[in-house]
Amino acid sequence: MMNNKSCNTSIHCSVDTCAYHNKPQNCCSLDSIKVGCSSTAPTQCDGTECASFKLGAR
Ligand code: SF4
Repeated sequence: MMNNKSCNTSIHCSVDTCAYHNKPQNCCSLDSIKVGCSSTAPTQCDGTECASFKLGAR
């Protein structure tokens, strides 16, 4: 499979359904990302999210 995406080695990511995910290197291809909240007042990791996520081709 072709992989033309860059790899930002400062952003490790395992979300392989995201359009920006570089699967072979398990990183993000964006220069920067925005992190937000998936709940109003997060108290655990799963209350946070990558707000730059975009659904990739399926
Ligand atoms: S945009 Fe977010 S979810 Fe998508 S690859 Fe980058 S870090 Fe992962």
